[in-house]
Amino acid sequence: MLRRVALPFVLVMTILSGAGVAEAQSSREGQAEPAEIVLRSGRIVTLDEALPEATALAASAGRIMAVGSDREIEAYVGAGTEVIDLDGRLAIPGFIEGHGHFMSLGNSRLILDLMHVTGWDEIVDMVAAVARDAAPGEWIRGRGWHQEKWESVREPTVDEVPLHTGLSAVSPENPVLLGHASGHAAFANARALELAGIDRDTPDPPGGTIVRDEEGDPTGLLRETAQRLVSAVMARQRAARTLDEQVAEARLAAKVAFDELLAKGVTSFQDAGSGFQLIDFFRGLAEEGEMPVRLYVMVRTSNEEMARHLAEYRMVDHLDGYLTVRSIKRQVDGALGSHGAWLLEPYSDMPETDGLVLEPLEEIRRTAELALQHDYQLNTHAIGDRANREILDIYESAYADARAADAGADPRWRIEHAQHVHPDDLPRFAELGVIPAMQAIHGCSDAPWVPERLGLERAASDGYMWRAFTESGAVVTNGTDAPVEDVDPIASYHCTVARRLPDGSVFFAGQGDQRLSRIEALRTYTINNAYAAFEEDRKGTLSPGKYADIVVLSKDILEVPEAEILDARVLYTIVGGEVKYRAE
Ligand SMILES: [Zn+2]
Repeated sequence: MLRRVALPFVLVMTILSGAGVAEAQSSREGQAEPAEIVLRSGRIVTLDEALPEATALAASAGRIMAVGSDREIEAYVGAGTEVIDLDGRLAIPGFIEGHGHFMSLGNSRLILDLMHVTGWDEIVDMVAAVARDAAPGEWIRGRGWHQEKWESVREPTVDEVPLHTGLSAVSPENPVLLGHASGHAAFANARALELAGIDRDTPDPPGGTIVRDEEGDPTGLLRETAQRLVSAVMARQRAARTLDEQVAEARLAAKVAFDELLAKGVTSFQDAGSGFQLIDFFRGLAEEGEMPVRLYVMVRTSNEEMARHLAEYRMVDHLDGYLTVRSIKRQVDGALGSHGAWLLEPYSDMPETDGLVLEPLEEIRRTAELALQHDYQLNTHAIGDRANREILDIYESAYADARAADAGADPRWRIEHAQHVHPDDLPRFAELGVIPAMQAIHGCSDAPWVPERLGLERAASDGYMWRAFTESGAVVTNGTDAPVEDVDPIASYHCTVARRLPDGSVFFAGQGDQRLSRIEALRTYTINNAYAAFEEDRKGTLSPGKYADIVVLSKDILEVPEAEILDARVLYTIVGGEVKYRAE
């Protein structure tokens, strides 16, 4: 069976404004326009009910032209067609990250990640590599080192940590500051100590220690408040950089983030909150063709600024679908781990508190008005059951206003995280048409301590309810909240279907098992995320007329034994019909 765009392609592209493309019945059978790219000999799982599985696909001008058998798609191969033989591998719609923080992801990668190093020499080598390319005077930052993880330590040491000499030698011109995994100490090289004015005569600040060697000279290790002697200088210097320097760093952060997304099979990214200045920056990147992954940016700023600018910033499917701005981010409460999620009943392990309200409900109500007025979607972070209930109440009343004005209104507002929801409130998501915008991977990361925070009973009945939501008819999305979690969709997909604790047991197995099937989980990461951004007509399935956003994996994550899912690697990431990542 062949599904393809039925009209001459150019015409279709100009009239294709929304509704799914009808079943193809062409009178010009066998005379197809050659495609720019053809995938064949694969297992192509489309998530399109009209043709759930195929072996080949043709794309041109950024869109899917046809999906079918190898023989059917052969008609699209011309002299200039790039043909990729999938050799039986799985091809699926490109992953859509449903909730991440784009610039934070990039910025986090500009800081050396020292969590996994096995020795001090490795740290010195990492700093040396960065110092070779760094502009003179630029700060080299790192974090996450822990001497107990090191296999060997180069002598001499003080307090189990070497002296700064090695680090200072590889980076004489660039100040270096490397935070300890605990946050309670940092290590500085000679240049950083010098800039901070720290020498053998500097007294320890109150609440801190400048660690010294036998001669009384600083070793580079700074404990507690002593870190601030250096970090304050770093913050001052970084803030004083020219606009050009700050923009150059932002461009680098964006590039690093885009590269990581492509390597992990992410073809669209829903950014959970940027201000108008950053949106200008994104638009500039997209106009220059420097945006290889599609961004769906939620506006995050004050109500006053939104009232002034929401109208002019609304853009849907802008620049070939690389930039969309039509949603707003708010945040009502904090997180469960830090006892910040706002609960109906106090925390089981801290009965004196029921959590935090970070943004007053009155302000969020005002945002809801602005959203309706300017036709923006409203996406509010709510984790605790009280926070979810309050936001549902606000949404319910806003929806009533919207539907009084227009009976067909379809606001599709979202609650970001929706981790802990009272059983009375759970059905309200589906009834109202509110989207629980979840990140499955949080469930697996949080599982070991959630029962302490909520008590066993509450945790089992109300926590991370992705199956209950799905069965209620709500559209559950998926993502990682990167850089809070690794942006890797495979890990979050695995958690969605396996829901395993680090010890291998299933999180509340038997007490309302919340695991999803493989295909349900794939939907959460593709078509459901597309729906949650009003993009189900353009993305989320491999259907003729939609963007040719495709990922090819080394393992069939729909079929392999559960434990092998995590071994799946991305072989190709294709965005708009262009191969933008190819595994070595
Ligand atoms: Zn977030």
